[in-house]
Amino acid sequence: MRVLIIEDESQIARWVDNYFRQAGYDTVVEADGRKGLDRARTWRPDLIILDLNLPEIDGLDICRMLRQDPRPEIAHVLIIMLTARAEEIDRLLGLEIGADDYVTKPFSPREIVARAKAIFRRVNRSSTGNLLLTDSDLVVDVDGHEAHLGGQPLSLTPNEFSVLVTLLKHQGRVLKRSRLIELALGHDYEGLERSVDVYIRQLRRKIGDLGGDPERIATVFGVGYRYEG
Ligand code: CA
Repeated sequence: MRVLIIEDESQIARWVDNYFRQAGYDTVVEADGRKGLDRARTWRPDLIILDLNLPEIDGLDICRMLRQDPRPEIAHVLIIMLTARAEEIDRLLGLEIGADDYVTKPFSPREIVARAKAIFRRVNRSSTGNLLLTDSDLVVDVDGHEAHLGGQPLSLTPNEFSVLVTLLKHQGRVLKRSRLIELALGHDYEGLERSVDVYIRQLRRKIGDLGGDPERIATVFGVGYRYEG
């Protein structure tokens, strides 16, 4: 597995680099945004550890540009953002920027390697290059708009599908109702927060009908939902 680290603080870059090497990954470090972007396009990493504030081109722009790349293997590269700004997190993971995960500074290198391993476990690529999200018996083909549970097709409406994809992408993290709607449907559905409850109920029912565990989507009372996996 190839990991590209784009970070201008040399001490942090060295730390993260050492940890990934020790964990058996091939790594390259770039210290500015322009070189980082070039390297991402030519070296084709599996994962990019991307600092938010960088000289030349900042992390948000790099992430956005990669996601718009016409080559799917580049557009779908896994990205973990490093940020010191907690208020940015929702945007980082949203449709606009499209990071896969984030780690807030200060962090331990061990934490970031653990996050990387978790992402590699749940995100895969099909033989045709489609992005696949998996959780044991559940396989969701994001590009093909198909989901299978225990090998059987899980028939979902487009909105249910988007909600499931969003939950899977944020596995283990709580998503507020309003945020889940925004991330999944790309709009501000503020006044209709309860509509997400309907999608969740349908998802649980359909998962249960195929013999899966519906409680993998957990209710966090008073807040929202969390995909437990
Ligand atoms: Ca920085």
